[in-house]
Parts: sequence; C-alpha cells; structure tokens
Amino acid sequence: MSHIYAGINNIRVCLFYIILFQYTVIMKKLYLFLITITLLTSAPKTSIIFMIGDGMGPAYTTAYRYYKDDNTTHKITPTVFDTILKGMNSTYSHNSVITDSAAAATALASANKTDNGIIGLKDNHKEKIQTLLEVAKKYGYMTGLAATSTITHATPAAFIAKGGHPRNKEAEIAKDFFIKTPDGKLKFDLIMGGGEKYFAEAFADFNQTANEYGITLYRNGYMLEDIKQFPFMAFTSYDYPPFAIDEKKENKYRVAKMTERSLNLLEGKPFFLMVEGSQIDWCGHINDVACAMAEMDDFAQAVTHAKTYVDKHPNTLLLVTADHSTGGLAIGDMVSKNESKIEQAKTYTWYPEVIKKIKASSYVIAKALRESKDINMTFQTYTSITLEQDEYLQVKEAITNKEKVRVVVTDIINSRSHTGWSTLGHTAVDVQTFAYGEGSQKFKGFMDNTDIAKKLFEVLSNK
Ligand SMILES: [Zn+2]
Repeated sequence: MSHIYAGINNIRVCLFYIILFQYTVIMKKLYLFLITITLLTSAPKTSIIFMIGDGMGPAYTTAYRYYKDDNTTHKITPTVFDTILKGMNSTYSHNSVITDSAAAATALASANKTDNGIIGLKDNHKEKIQTLLEVAKKYGYMTGLAATSTITHATPAAFIAKGGHPRNKEAEIAKDFFIKTPDGKLKFDLIMGGGEKYFAEAFADFNQTANEYGITLYRNGYMLEDIKQFPFMAFTSYDYPPFAIDEKKENKYRVAKMTERSLNLLEGKPFFLMVEGSQIDWCGHINDVACAMAEMDDFAQAVTHAKTYVDKHPNTLLLVTADHSTGGLAIGDMVSKNESKIEQAKTYTWYPEVIKKIKASSYVIAKALRESKDINMTFQTYTSITLEQDEYLQVKEAITNKEKVRVVVTDIINSRSHTGWSTLGHTAVDVQTFAYGEGSQKFKGFMDNTDIAKKLFEVLSNK
C-alpha cells in the first residue's frame, strides 16, 4: 500500500507546485497590472507660477485698492489680490528681523534662512542651497525666471546663483546662470528681464557663449512675440529698466506682458515660473507713492493674467507674496517737522486722486524742474499740483542739488496726498501670502517665508 500513498503524495506535491507556479504567474500579472494602473492614474505634475512683489507689504496692496477704486461710489471694489488672499508670512533673515532682498529671496527660493546680502549659501556661508528652480528641472519641469530688474538682481538671482556672491556682483552672478545640472542640462529654459550688460561683462563673447549652450538671445525689449524657441534669454534692456511710471505707454504693463507671454510659451507643459515685480521696492526706497502705485498696477495685471491661466489650466498653482515691505508706507499722513503741518498729521484722510494725476517718477520730475525756466508750470505739468508759495520756495532752494530737489518733489506729493513713510529701507512687518489653484489651501494662515518654499518643494515632488 505504501507505494500507493507515495504516488498520491507525489501527485499532491506536483499539484502544489503547479498551483504555486500559477499563483506566481497570476501575482506577477497582477503586479504589472497594478503598476500600469498606478502610472496611468498617478497625479500629473502641478505647474507653479511663483510671483514675488519685491517690497510689496500689506500697505501696498491696501493703498492699491483705494488708488484703483472708483471714487464716485461708496463701495470699495476688491482687487485681484483680495480675491486670492490666504494668510501672512514672516520675513526675518538669519541675522536680522529686517531682511534684505537677498536673504528673503534665498528663503523663498530654497527654504533656507541666511544672512542679509547673501545669495546661494546657507547660514554657515559655506553650504550651497538647492533651489525650487533646480529641483523643478530635476523632475523634468520647464523652468523660467522673469523680472523687471536686471535678471541678475537679488530675487531672480537667488533661484539660480550658487557661489555666495555679494548681491551687487551681478557679473559674477551672471556666470552662475550657465552652471549645468548634474545630468548636464541647462537650469533654465526661459529668461526675461534687464541687464544684458552683466552677461557682456561676465563673458568675453556673450553671443558665442549663448550659442555654445544652444540659447537663443532676443533683444527686442518687451516685444516678446518674436520668441519662438527654448531655451532663450529675452533682454528687455541692456542695463536697469526704467520704472513703469516712466515707461512708454505701450510698456507700462511690462510685468503683465512678460507673464502673459511666458505662460503662452509654457502652456501645456509642466513648468516652474518665477515672476518678480522688482521695482515696487525701488519706489518704496525713494518714498515715491505714485511710482509705487504704477508698479502695483502692472503687478496686479500680471497676477490677473496668471489667475486666468490657472482657471483654464486647473493643474497649476499660483503663489503670490512679497519678500518684505519697503519704506514703511502708511496710508495716512506722516508726522511733519514743519509746525504748520502738525494738524494735517491728525486728519483722517488719504487722497489717491492726487496720486493718480502724477505723470512721472520723482527722478524724472526733479530732472525736468532742474532744466526748466518755470518751476510752477513744470510742476503743474507733471503733477497737476499748483504749488503754494512755501512749496515753490522749497523747490527753488533745492534746485541746484539733484537729490535734494527730488526729495522735495516726493515731500510735496506725499503731503498733498497725505501719504506717510517711516524709513528709506525695509521693515520687518509680515507680508501676505496669496494663492490660487491646485494646492492653494496649503498656504492658509500664518507661516514663515521658508515654509512657503517647503510647501512648493512638496508640490514639485508630487507629495
Ligand atoms: Zn529693497
């Protein structure tokens, strides 16, 4: 009988192996099937439009709302910023509660706090940072930077420069644009902004350098329609571009133009695009409210373009913030050293109508006044303000000094519009976080500027 049992046992063993084999085959098939399903259904990449209003503290977006409002009605119309507000973020740097643009941009570009003046290095001044733009490139995104400053200026530079160069060494920063990724790729596909001069300084023959890297150069200012192929650098000016308020009519909305064209070119591809409204800050540093509002108007239109893009392409995140606030802008009169103005500083009034009529920056008005034979008429032409006798005397007294007369111009415009400023530098006030589209809920409430970058890194890695 034992051979019969042995035979049955053999059959059992045989069956066991057949079943095991078939089970393995089925599991393999199931495994391949699941992988295919995962690949087919895995979330597509989320594109990021990261917009930074340099110096755009909360007083700027508020002032802009009243500046833009139709004063014939009592209802105040919300701005595009009001429609996408999510929270606030702190901006302190590693060595000061008041950050500069270099440390703030390093925080926003890489989630690292560093010292004021430092770009591309961590707080130990040795370790190089990894930026959102670089990580985006690693994950196969198209990458771009657009700014109204030189493209080698602190904010755009922080997304690409690595050497820890002082922020004013723009030719050194220009060289870093050509450091390739570990797999030999250019870090950027799209560059729009001013400052070709720094690339010309950095390279013996910049045309040839661009050619070696396969980069097309465009030099048609804000005529961006000619751009046909990636990668490219479109220089809007050789040196520093002018303020929006001083630009030719067709170029006043240049952040908006650059944003619209960039999105147009990148449409349909996963991308990381940083757009900076660079000069809001510069108007703040010179306490020029009309200059600041013109920059805000341009930036607001750029944000509107980006928001419309998100509406049409839901798989996109729009993040808007500032790196810090500049000038301590107050929507209310400043305390004047002038006895006769003390009562004015207690009034509850702000006159955006005065600001709307200003036709140029204080630099341009000061220059015109110095070249003019009729101070009253020139002032009137540029500002629609009829000078009082004491104001006229202030201008006349300062007329031989370029900077002094410019300061008098801003003093008069600030006083007439009841606009206050507390500093020529930056302030430590928190700035707003605006977000719209895919993943925008992550940015609600209070956070630090480094948290914004951390969350954007998460978006890029699809977490
Ligand atoms: Zn600044």
